[in-house]
Amino acid sequence: MILDLPRWFDLHTHFRQGPAMPAYVRAHLDMGCAGVLAMPNTQPPVARVNGALEEGAWSIEGYMKLLHEAGADAFEHLIVPLYLTRQTTAAMIREGAASGMLKACKYYPPHGTTNAEHGLPMDDLIEGEVLRAMEEHGVILCIHGEQHALSGPDYIDAGQNAETRFYQERMPRLLAAHPKLRIVCEHITTRTAAEFVAAAPDHIGATITPQHLLYTLGHLIQGLKYHLYCLPVVKFQDDRAALRQAVLQPAQAKFFAGTDSAPHTTKATDCGCAAGCFTGGCAPQLYAMAFEEAGTDLGSTEGHALLERFLCLNGPAFHGFPPSRRRFRMEKAPSRTEVLETPAGPVTPLPSGLGLELTWRLAY
Ligand SMILES: [Zn+2]
Repeated sequence: MILDLPRWFDLHTHFRQGPAMPAYVRAHLDMGCAGVLAMPNTQPPVARVNGALEEGAWSIEGYMKLLHEAGADAFEHLIVPLYLTRQTTAAMIREGAASGMLKACKYYPPHGTTNAEHGLPMDDLIEGEVLRAMEEHGVILCIHGEQHALSGPDYIDAGQNAETRFYQERMPRLLAAHPKLRIVCEHITTRTAAEFVAAAPDHIGATITPQHLLYTLGHLIQGLKYHLYCLPVVKFQDDRAALRQAVLQPAQAKFFAGTDSAPHTTKATDCGCAAGCFTGGCAPQLYAMAFEEAGTDLGSTEGHALLERFLCLNGPAFHGFPPSRRRFRMEKAPSRTEVLETPAGPVTPLPSGLGLELTWRLAY
């Protein structure tokens, strides 16, 4: 079986900074990716719109230049969101939107994931002038939706977790205060978040990673497969079923690919683990495997259309640019993804880290 698809878009990925950037960009281009939204939790963060590196922050303009030098000019579309910090002002939003440089902003809960220490509580943003300016100028808010500062049993247990708390307590307030704000709920992991997005108005969308469609907490814990450790952490079977149901709704337009591919050259630390799964080189294959595990026949017209919507069409439509006119192909055949060697050190892709082979192979 051959899948022939428009080149796809990864609307949530991490290219970091430094000498490994070209290898990360190349890995994305090599898997038929036509464009990306590259996250701003770099070191230092992308916390300004224009200008040179100063005051401990890159600008979108400066970071885009680095990405272009690393090979990202080969993408058809490149979006870098602004990292929302206490230094973000409404004037930055207005001027950035007017210049065309600012398309989106990223909300990180304080200390919620890798390099998230510059984030601020959502309550400090709601009804503030920054979100009002974004709403007025059509700047998209990308949200890492987890309630911050929860510890131990409150962070995750069978009845609730940081994401369900965020979608039950913060998101209704956010939508009520900013009814026109365009929002992407990033890397959703729970039934609560999937049902919230499905029931919300059309200008609320969501990205879903391959790992959250494929795996559960059991996969992570059995053998402590730390290459599967990302934030928000993979959840339970019922949550995975809800995510699969969301992407398999015929003609759905709200859910789209965002891998959250996050390279780490050192995954395990002295006592802990860096958060992020690297899926450069294998993301569309993993998505195809997830759709099949969810019961889709990708050889059928309907199954093909569902995967095409999710991977290639919905993301561009939500962000307001056309889908790719170029194509890429995958063939139903076993394949392996090798460890990516970079000048910063080797990075292990997710399926290799789990000791798994892919059932699809990129075919050119
Ligand atoms: Zn991310």
